Amino acid sequence: MSKSAKNAAHILRFWGVRGSIPTADPEQSLIGGNTSCVELTTADGSHIIFDGGTGLRGLGNHIGRQHSKPYEVHLFLSHTHWDHIMGIPFFAPMHQAFAKINIYGPERSDEPLRQAVLGLFRAPYFPLHFSELKAHLNFIEISVGETSFGNGFKIKYAPHPHPNGAISYRLEVDGRVITYITDIEHTKDRLVKSVIELSREADVLIHDSQFHADDLPAHRSWGHSSWEECTAVAQKADVKELFLYHFDPNYSDYDVLDMERRAQVVFPHTTAARQGMTFEIPTK
Ligand SMILES: [Zn+2]
Ligand SMILES: [Zn+2]
Repeated sequence: MSKSAKNAAHILRFWGVRGSIPTADPEQSLIGGNTSCVELTTADGSHIIFDGGTGLRGLGNHIGRQHSKPYEVHLFLSHTHWDHIMGIPFFAPMHQAFAKINIYGPERSDEPLRQAVLGLFRAPYFPLHFSELKAHLNFIEISVGETSFGNGFKIKYAPHPHPNGAISYRLEVDGRVITYITDIEHTKDRLVKSVIELSREADVLIHDSQFHADDLPAHRSWGHSSWEECTAVAQKADVKELFLYHFDPNYSDYDVLDMERRAQVVFPHTTAARQGMTFEIPTK
């Protein structure tokens, strides 16, 4: 889309909603088996992506087909666990010389972001070496703060509790707010304060909902949340729409739909994100 052809809405699309590992079981096909990847195409055509799980492959094919001239993509990684970066080697724009891909992720002392991502292309795990990639890659390490972009959007970020660390994002575009928080473990009976702040009055909150609360005690220190915590954050931060996200790979469609039904009783504007689902956020 050309920058001059402004749409009336920002389009959010879920390309992967599964946590931990991709699944292909028939009883999970309604919710979908690709791992974390959410795209926001803003009304002016900017491509903003949260996480590069296996959903990134389909998204890359979709974006790659739209462009034959120089363009830019912003990929915000919550962290570099496998399920959030596995799609990167299969992201079609990586192989387009006219694509500029900005990859943002947590600053780490032990493993620079560039090394963590490009390590995916290391022999004997992958047939291509990263030097064969054609796109212009730009790595930006972040921890806490905000970045403004020329084309009307701003992103705020802060670290949150997860093994090896992870980052929460609040995207502000033309007065609309989308908050993306996954792979987070709240303290028992206490929600993480920065998560509430970044979610404050968001139009859309996408939040880790790996477990039912009953399953959480057996998975303490795994770094995840329950749907009960999602609805608590949504209520406390006064968000408009809540999307449950990053479902346990062992949960069937029935399990996730049960989660959605229970969550809607507490917070009616709740949806369990499904692979392929789109949601329009009208421009102000
Ligand atoms: Zn994950
Ligand atoms: Zn993780």
